[in-house]
Amino acid sequence: MSSGPTEESFRDHLGFITEEGKRKWVYPKAPRGRFHSARLIVSWILLAVLFVTPFLRVNGHPFMLFDITERKFVILGQIFGPHDFFLLALAMITSVVFIFLFTVVFGRLFCGWICPQTIFTEMVFRKIDYWLEGGPREQRSLNESSWTGRKLRVKGVKHAIYFVLSFLIANTLLAWIIGTDKLFLIISDPPTEHLGGLSAIIIFSGGFHWLFAWFREQACILVCPYGRLQGVLLDRNSIVIAYDHARGEPRGKLRRSETRALGDCIDCHQCVDVCPTGIDIRNGTQLECVNCTACIDACDFIMDSIDRPRGLIRFDSIEGMEKKIHSLFTSRSFSYGIVLVVLVSVLAYFMATRSDIDVTILRTPGMYYQEQPDNFVSNLYDVKAINKTFLNLPLSFRLKGIEGTIRVLGDSLILKSQDAAAAKLFVLMKRDQIKMMSTPLVIEVYSRESLMSAIRTSFLGPVQKKAE
Ligand code: SF4
Ligand code: SF4
Repeated sequence: MSSGPTEESFRDHLGFITEEGKRKWVYPKAPRGRFHSARLIVSWILLAVLFVTPFLRVNGHPFMLFDITERKFVILGQIFGPHDFFLLALAMITSVVFIFLFTVVFGRLFCGWICPQTIFTEMVFRKIDYWLEGGPREQRSLNESSWTGRKLRVKGVKHAIYFVLSFLIANTLLAWIIGTDKLFLIISDPPTEHLGGLSAIIIFSGGFHWLFAWFREQACILVCPYGRLQGVLLDRNSIVIAYDHARGEPRGKLRRSETRALGDCIDCHQCVDVCPTGIDIRNGTQLECVNCTACIDACDFIMDSIDRPRGLIRFDSIEGMEKKIHSLFTSRSFSYGIVLVVLVSVLAYFMATRSDIDVTILRTPGMYYQEQPDNFVSNLYDVKAINKTFLNLPLSFRLKGIEGTIRVLGDSLILKSQDAAAAKLFVLMKRDQIKMMSTPLVIEVYSRESLMSAIRTSFLGPVQKKAE
């Protein structure tokens, strides 16, 4: 381990880089314990959600879809388009504030338990390593050995399985973006008809293979922007994976014949051996720690075996460790909480009042009123409508509470799903009905006998001369 950081210099080093600046491959021991069992359950549930959700339908439409190519999003069966940009922006801001609040309180728990990168690396691909190549020692010796028939076979099978899984993940990602119907077309049609889609599948498959076979923990440490934010979001009250320094130190090997005058840490290195990012949590909170809890399980096992209480490494804040102060409600979390409540309330209001269509009806600029045969007077209006639903909606118009006729110019107005349309319409009223120069008017917009919207506008007409 000469190339690794010493206890004094660990803050100047990344756990997976040697002093020569080369990548030090991390061979963690397979984790076992109650947290790992819980993580396994959470991981399988999340993987099921990831792979099954693109196939879910509500009334024949996707339940979730993030079609960035056509700027169409379906969230919980509700469709959102470019016209809902402010709602999506608001939802994103709300999510960011939620992530900030969650991180301030619970640290990097998301990374170890929910992030797909960690779940795939630790719960899927690394399990295949253990299955085909054995434990860390066997993996290391296989990697360092020269190429033999066995090594070729093992590595070949492993990478074939890796690629099949990467291919599955790439297809699933695409299903989330373009939907399963389009994905099946890409798969079933002649390749020449979907060159773009096929290229995307191949590029994504290769990318995932590289990510999970080689890049692994470096994604969390070097690339992930959320990981980089930890430094500014965590404070002394944030819950992190922490080593109880006061209880553990001075550390030292256990000698059963001696009366122990040292701390509880018997320096067995198990917490380091299981760490998938190759760090020693006894050095304090570090940016490489993804809160996977493997070190807690490893240390709890050791504490059980030497008859000491569990929790030498545990979920706790620095304040909790040092002063036994456990406070989730700090001024920081409270401030984020208030902002989050406001944002969620505003978002909920806009979602609850969101209509299926947006319609504006305005008198055509520059037009006054028109004299029509049979003593009628007309006004010309511009109609603009946006359909936010999955359905094509034929629109019709009625006047509310006043006699008159509406005539749509041209073809009848059919508003296609997720589309916008414009039209012109005349409102005609009998001259003797017009009592003032500008008569308030309500035009109701119907689709298949359902009232979709009611628009207030006005009708200009000739002022009636009073009888002498
Ligand atoms: S597993 Fe526990 S006892 Fe062993 S080195 Fe780590 S902290 Fe010390
Ligand atoms: S220090 Fe512990 S919790 Fe953090 S990444 Fe390593 S094993 Fe996981």
